[in-house]
Amino acid sequence: MFKHQVIVIGGGLAGLRAAVETAMMGVDTAVLSLLYPVRSHSGAAQGGVNAALANMPECKDDSPAKHAYDTIKGSDFLADQDCAEIMTTDAPKRIYELEHWGVPFSRTEDGRIAQRPFGGAGYPRTCYAADKTGLYILHTLNEQAVKHKVKVYNEWAALSLANDGMMNHGLVALNLQTGEIAPFAADAVVFATGGAGRIYKRTSNAMQSTGYCLGVAYKAGIPLKDMEFIQFHPTTIVGTNILMTEGARGEGGYLVNNQGERFMQKYAPKAMELAPRDIVSRSIQIEINEGRGFPDGGGCVHLDLRHLGREKILERLPGIRDLAISFLGIDCIENPVPVQPGQHFIMGGIDTDKDGATILPGAFAAGECASVSVHGANRLGGNSLLECVVMGQRAGAAAGKFVQGKASAIKEAVLNDAAQKTSAEVDALLKSDGKERLVTLRDAMAQTMTDKIGIFREEKAMREALATIQELRVRFRHIGVDAKNRKFNLDLLRTIELGGMLDAAESIAAGAVARQESRGAHSRLDFKTRDDVNWMKHTLAHYTPDGARLDYEPVVLTKWQPEERKY
Ligand SMILES: Cc1cc2nc3c(=O)[nH]c(=O)nc-3n(C[C@H](O)[C@H](O)[C@H](O)COP(=O)(O)OP(=O)(O)OC[C@H]3O[C@@H](n4cnc5c(N)ncnc54)[C@H](O)[C@@H]3O)c2cc1C
Repeated sequence: MFKHQVIVIGGGLAGLRAAVETAMMGVDTAVLSLLYPVRSHSGAAQGGVNAALANMPECKDDSPAKHAYDTIKGSDFLADQDCAEIMTTDAPKRIYELEHWGVPFSRTEDGRIAQRPFGGAGYPRTCYAADKTGLYILHTLNEQAVKHKVKVYNEWAALSLANDGMMNHGLVALNLQTGEIAPFAADAVVFATGGAGRIYKRTSNAMQSTGYCLGVAYKAGIPLKDMEFIQFHPTTIVGTNILMTEGARGEGGYLVNNQGERFMQKYAPKAMELAPRDIVSRSIQIEINEGRGFPDGGGCVHLDLRHLGREKILERLPGIRDLAISFLGIDCIENPVPVQPGQHFIMGGIDTDKDGATILPGAFAAGECASVSVHGANRLGGNSLLECVVMGQRAGAAAGKFVQGKASAIKEAVLNDAAQKTSAEVDALLKSDGKERLVTLRDAMAQTMTDKIGIFREEKAMREALATIQELRVRFRHIGVDAKNRKFNLDLLRTIELGGMLDAAESIAAGAVARQESRGAHSRLDFKTRDDVNWMKHTLAHYTPDGARLDYEPVVLTKWQPEERKY
């Protein structure tokens, strides 16, 4: 049996930051990851990471408190204000730490970390490394993990937790290379498994971002919080939905409809293209729905960067230029890029406190899979990489403290039981001659979520979506796996993942149907306004075999009273 004091599931930004923290505390730490850490989806992050450094002439009087206010306003007042303040206060410390560890941030003329404007922010606050910020931070954190001798189990998939209802004792995982299923004993486990974009059809997320582990935590009795809040990024490339970073608008890019109008003038006259993402996505969708879009790929508008000039594009946005050339054959120096909104981020996730602890002793979470909650109903661009490094550090510190100076209380019998149960389930799947097929069910789920729990929502369609997802959960019991081999059986892995994805999808649909208001990214055509009297509260979805049981908890308000959002 493998054994460590702390096992972090996931080698993205949040996972590596948590692991580096526990390793620096002298705690025996391992990362278990589907992918080699530097291939994690954090590496796709382009635009940047927020911190009120006040480095640019235009942001001399910026401060963490102003960053907190922008975050809370951006969240449509659903973020817990104490958590938002923790994140923005820790932000400069974490950024300078990354700088000292070697992240090659872009610079001002006088050598400071440069900052660009991002949506919903009062000042240029987003620190960046050209448009490859996530990649550089990921590699730097990986170097730190190597330096601090974090053990990495590459190409292992966590399948389940081993808990006895009182405490978590580790996890059970599948070695993709051999097909072996093994128990991993750990006094503390940190989920850092990233986003869940693949629950949707049109998404900017990688294949790895399934949200499967949301289902693992959920089934282990940990509630999922605020799952109905799904972020749609305004500018994803038509067809593939690969991201054109918000940094492109931060550098001055325009959004244009088929009449040649910069239509954001109508929707956010002050902030224009730099309004928060929920507002820009809705505005684009209205333009498309009302016939002012271009027809390509089911409807799109144009992201026009030509006026920025060749030099600026090559210096600040080389990555997105390459993407547009590779995937559309369009050079944004010469032509506008057709873009449409696509699923991008999940504001909800595994319910944690401000230190990343869940209600299950020994289980922690950080990064996109967690809901602390700092993003509330809508996340500001640049705040997710920040959440990963701030909350990754805090979850690591809390997990380290949880295990330090104590005798291990791991019950091996619980682990062996969990391993046997999980093994039996996987064997049954491999032997099954079930008639249902992975592709059919997964496609039905993703299309349903895109069509019916999208940017604009209304009761009838959402109830249909909920019924479809519930039906798919029943059909999933009769699924068969075509490939019967043990080694690198991706048919098997994707089938296992679908079970967790359907659980997570069900919690999204259930939460969305129940929330009778419009707030942030949850925009209902049948309840058009925000309702603070009845809905200023977090949704908690609890797993039951028959579907999510919902309850609610208050939002933490400290200094800022809710007000109408205007940009
Ligand atoms: C294209 C794109 C651009 C973005 N740009 C920005 C930006 O500029 N600024 C910003 O703030 N945010 C940005 N975001 C959001 C941000 O990048 C992500 O929210 C963040 O990187 C998530 O990091 P993470 O560590 O939580 O997860 P990830 O980096 O996705 O890592 C998840 C890890 O979990 C592992 N894993 C998953 N499931 C399992 C399992 N079952 N068993 C074992 N391991 C598992 C994976 O192997 C991986 O190592 C962007 C997102 C996308 C998609």
